[in-house]
Amino acid sequence: MAELRRVGDICHGCRLCFNLCPSFRELFRRIDEKEEAVENLSKGDFKSVVLLCYDCKLCFPKCPYTPPHNYQLDFPRLMIWARALWGRRGLRERLLEDPDRLGRLGTPVAPLANWINRLGVTRRLLEKVVGIHRRAVLPAFSPRTFAAWHRRRLRQEGARAGANGKVLLFYTCLVNYHEPEVGQAAVRVLEHNEVEVVCPAQRCCGMPYLDTGNLQAAVKRARYNVEALLPYVRAGYTIVSPGPSCSLMLRQEYPELLSSPEAREVASQTQDLCEYLMRLNAQGKLRRDWTPLQERILYHHPCHLQVQNIGRKSWDLLALISEREVGCVTQCSGHDGTWSMKREYHELSHQIGGKLYSRVRESSGSLVACDCSLAQKQITQGTGQKAVHPILLVARAYGLEGEERNGKAQAK
Ligand code: SF4
Ligand code: SF4
Repeated sequence: MAELRRVGDICHGCRLCFNLCPSFRELFRRIDEKEEAVENLSKGDFKSVVLLCYDCKLCFPKCPYTPPHNYQLDFPRLMIWARALWGRRGLRERLLEDPDRLGRLGTPVAPLANWINRLGVTRRLLEKVVGIHRRAVLPAFSPRTFAAWHRRRLRQEGARAGANGKVLLFYTCLVNYHEPEVGQAAVRVLEHNEVEVVCPAQRCCGMPYLDTGNLQAAVKRARYNVEALLPYVRAGYTIVSPGPSCSLMLRQEYPELLSSPEAREVASQTQDLCEYLMRLNAQGKLRRDWTPLQERILYHHPCHLQVQNIGRKSWDLLALISEREVGCVTQCSGHDGTWSMKREYHELSHQIGGKLYSRVRESSGSLVACDCSLAQKQITQGTGQKAVHPILLVARAYGLEGEERNGKAQAK
């Protein structure tokens, strides 16, 4: 409570984030109601602020008081710690926090699981009993995992050496169990650019555990992945991930969670997928044998890439492969991990996504690209326009569509 009061007081004096999210609006409303004195706020006041934080992290780069400033203010991390202390971990949280477990259960029976998930009666039950909103989009299970696809490819075609680099693809649980076409496109594009790709055993990065406040489990996941990835880092591989939240976990959260030199080593060699491709481009190693895309493209820059401070690499890459100007929109989609799936926040999450939806509607007829799988789903639900990962459009420009669905097909 003392730290929440200290930070609350600094924020009260600053108020720069007043319109950033419901969490700050709630904080300032409650302070104003209580004679503008943070010391008058109760645990219940702070708790409602904490539960409205959906961990987009956008307040961190905006804040002038983050380390090394002597205020040492890290609002998003404070919210994570408070959630660990106060967050409710019921059946819903246990279900949503382990996507690997859900994937292992759903993938072998994908058609049946997807059919059941679409039934109105199932959704009403899930809402009533578990607390998952009946209109929340649940990612459909793929009948075959990305890891299985990659193993078969290795058996059939063998490993390919790469003259331009060596990459360990941290493919993410969403790609593995739900969207293997994104991982397949990543492998094809990287190999086309003479980059060796390996995909060793790995587990979910653990971000969903931070959402539910299960810090112990997040630390366990971080430890497992650092141990699994470290030998590859030491052998000269760069870790590359198509998932913004997952690369953020490896880069920024693992060193905090583990405080170990090994975690920092892994973090230092982790990059976002499009960031890696743009580095190849800067070195003159990115092949230019694509056919430029003719459609207009609108790119949504996800919050968890914005806070990595790497610029808009996917936007740059899309601009390279496109004949036409590529638009960019930075407003939060409001999905943020599992927050939008929750019964009590789903409607609010679509209100948060409102500004982004307006931009998408204004550019109707454009292809919509976004690196974050959950933001894609939120955009699609909020606007009716399909959003896809930029790598699918890159693969399409190279003519590298394989058995995976291509960007054009998905965009329809
Ligand atoms: S998080 Fe930083 S920038 Fe935002 S209101 Fe608080 S002190 Fe100001
Ligand atoms: S992390 Fe995002 S949702 Fe949480 S307080 Fe900061 S801006 Fe608000």
